[in-house]
Amino acid sequence: MNYYSTRDRSLSVPFHNAIFQGPAPDGGLFMPDRIPHVSSDFIHHIESKSIIDIGYEIIHPFTSMPPADLHAIIEQSFIFKAPLVEIGHGLRFLELFHGPTLAFKDFGARFMAQTMAYFRSAHEEINILVATSGDTGGAVASAFSGLEGFKVYILFPKGKISALQQKQLTTWDTNIQAIEVDGTFDECQRLVKTAFNDRNLRANKNFGSANSINIARLLPQMIYYFEAYRQADHKADLQIIVPSGNFGNLTAGLMAKKMGLPLSRFIAATNSNDIFPFYLETGDYHPRVSRETLSNAMDVGDPSNFVRIKELYHGQDEGSTWNNIKSEILPHVVSDQSTLDNIHKVWSEFGYLMDPHTAVAYDATKNYPGNNIIVSTAHWAKFLSTINRAIGEDIPEIPESLSSLNNKEEKYLSIDSKFDSFRQIIS
Ligand SMILES: *Cc1c(COP(=O)(O)O)cnc(C)c1O
Repeated sequence: MNYYSTRDRSLSVPFHNAIFQGPAPDGGLFMPDRIPHVSSDFIHHIESKSIIDIGYEIIHPFTSMPPADLHAIIEQSFIFKAPLVEIGHGLRFLELFHGPTLAFKDFGARFMAQTMAYFRSAHEEINILVATSGDTGGAVASAFSGLEGFKVYILFPKGKISALQQKQLTTWDTNIQAIEVDGTFDECQRLVKTAFNDRNLRANKNFGSANSINIARLLPQMIYYFEAYRQADHKADLQIIVPSGNFGNLTAGLMAKKMGLPLSRFIAATNSNDIFPFYLETGDYHPRVSRETLSNAMDVGDPSNFVRIKELYHGQDEGSTWNNIKSEILPHVVSDQSTLDNIHKVWSEFGYLMDPHTAVAYDATKNYPGNNIIVSTAHWAKFLSTINRAIGEDIPEIPESLSSLNNKEEKYLSIDSKFDSFRQIIS
């Protein structure tokens, strides 16, 4: 299968080429030529399948890999579960935080790292550049750590990520170089973009992108929607609530539905960065500078995957595209105060702790009762100060994988936000 640019259908490259690029050369995003269908037999027998079987079945039509090789990559990538947990009163969470960095980004990052390692030519060293506002950096660092032939540079904005998130970037002894930038996340992203466009740099080195628009991060995220369906007791009229920022997670869900997974609809839940809900309600798309909220991994003012969603629901004109999209996706917007209240309420009623992103999704169950699955994107322990604000001092013990980071020494470089400072490090 080939991947075309959302800006120009004739710009089309094979899978093994698309995965090393961020955006397409013309600035569009890569999309698969077509969305293949799974057989009804597969759906019918899904309860007897493992996450590895499901992963193979879903992904293989999108790649050109020999079956045994793809199977091995999937086994290496999905070494953790995606349980559907019912806490009572019909509240069900699809827990996507059982990977090494306790956030759903492990699914995408691990598969991307494994496929890039598979397609790398033996003599090449690849420099991965990635800017992070929180969870991406940790997942990418963990996924590439120790992989031969890769050097990973992770830029994070000084003082703007949680202490534990920072530990997840800065405590590697391996091929991972964390860089603290005295600036905002947007400035980190600009440094990465500038590097990709710098011909002199590229003349001597190979660069690869690992940000959330990479197609190798998107595809594996379809798998857990099938996993959710497999585990659901009641499979009719399922509504999936997705806490969203850049909308990669939701886009993967829409693709799973297009492949034939029988889901009824999606609810796009956002914090006050409500650009997409506003589009659903009015048909107007107005990107903005992002606002800071408690669910900071979703503080996105111009969601990059919006163009992919439009591709999936493409109509004859803008109006019919909008109609197609809003027939399957419903909007929900949540304030920081409600986010805190929700964490408190679910904790005191059910003894279940939600992280702030999951709490945004939970909020939608009030407006949209029904056969809901709430997508839970991170473990609460990554956001201790918010949890503290929501429930007070009496916080349960945090998982070993996080508490053990406290004893590790942090190593990182610090730079200002000028490109020259960054270039000196990577050239
Ligand atoms: C990245 C992230 C999101 C947003 O996912 P998108 O695919 O960008 O919409 C939500 N929750 C958490 C915890 C995240 O890290």
